[in-house]
Amino acid sequence: MPIALSKFDEVRLDHVSRDFGSLNALRDVSLTIKRGEFIALLGPSGCGKSTTLNCIAGLLPVTGGSIWLDKTRVDTLKPEERGFGMVFQNYALFPHLNVRQNIGFGLKMRNTPRVEMERKIDEAVALVRLKGQEHKLPGQLSGGQQQRVAIARAIVIEPPLVLMDEPLSNLDAKLRLEMRAEIRRIHNELGATTIYVTHDQDEALSLADRIVVLRDGVIRQVGTPKELYEAPAHLDVADFMGFRNKLKGKVIANDGDGRAVIDVEGATFRGVTRQALPIGAAAFVAIRPDDLMLGEPGINALKATVETIEYRGREFVGTARSAQGADFVFRSHHSIAPGGSIHLTASDDRVLVFADQA
Ligand code: ATP
Repeated sequence: MPIALSKFDEVRLDHVSRDFGSLNALRDVSLTIKRGEFIALLGPSGCGKSTTLNCIAGLLPVTGGSIWLDKTRVDTLKPEERGFGMVFQNYALFPHLNVRQNIGFGLKMRNTPRVEMERKIDEAVALVRLKGQEHKLPGQLSGGQQQRVAIARAIVIEPPLVLMDEPLSNLDAKLRLEMRAEIRRIHNELGATTIYVTHDQDEALSLADRIVVLRDGVIRQVGTPKELYEAPAHLDVADFMGFRNKLKGKVIANDGDGRAVIDVEGATFRGVTRQALPIGAAAFVAIRPDDLMLGEPGINALKATVETIEYRGREFVGTARSAQGADFVFRSHHSIAPGGSIHLTASDDRVLVFADQA
């Protein structure tokens, strides 16, 4: 029988919190993950991603709430009783054990019969494409190969859930891309359920079925990559999804039908909103650098002075500053000398409007 991950319907975090003294690292986190999903936990440093993963793994006790695998409460169980597969950023391989021994470690701990153990190791080695490397020590392997050993070791025990904490952050950019594809392939081939911690927006967008964005220990938004990329619900989520240009202004009109008009430094911006925005309230417009272009004075155009301009192959990327000191990143089809006066513009449907502090 090939490696078969344990079957269950869902993992559920029910109002989970974790405090470190007076610091609330996780606050009232509720989340249901279905079997077969690839979930990315995304957010800036210190937002609680690793704490969430470690609470699920059992490496950290929760201080409130509970964690369930179907109808079984698991937050009260020891890590080895939960039996989840873990892959860490630093691989955590045993340096004195070869590839086969590292991969087989968990099976040995479970007193798996020898023949079955050898067969499962063979399958895991094949799955992570390490044939021919089995008798090497970790020190004789590249970073990517070590990461493959760590993945094989996590899945060979046939866990219900695979937990990965920034597994690619020690690899160079090219290898990161390769291993990213490998991780998704292995997930698909196994029919695994994976929870993957990352602070890299691209990694989360390309790997996950659903992304959970955390900030200050709180879930800010859960959605598919497309939902988060196209319709971030809050300014901080938008920021994480690449809306680098954030301009503060005041609401001057709100048609109640998803469009609002904001005054920014005397210029008028029209954009999309999903929030109730009272007239006169402080608000932000958020625009991706890719969507902010040179234009003419008018609606959705702000006067600015070019600060820097860089050639990027197909186009130029510039930075500019408004009269009141707001900074922008924009793109342009041609070069403009620093110091030059320009108008930057974006189409209505590329401008998102958020309430201040929302
Ligand atoms: P990073 O991307 O930097 O790893 P993260 O989102 O994984 O960040 P966590 O490691 O979960 O963040 O930390 C969340 C918060 O809890 C941070 O403010 C951190 O300083 C704090 N924290 C984490 N572990 C401990 C600990 N053992 N003792 C005290 N505070 C801790």
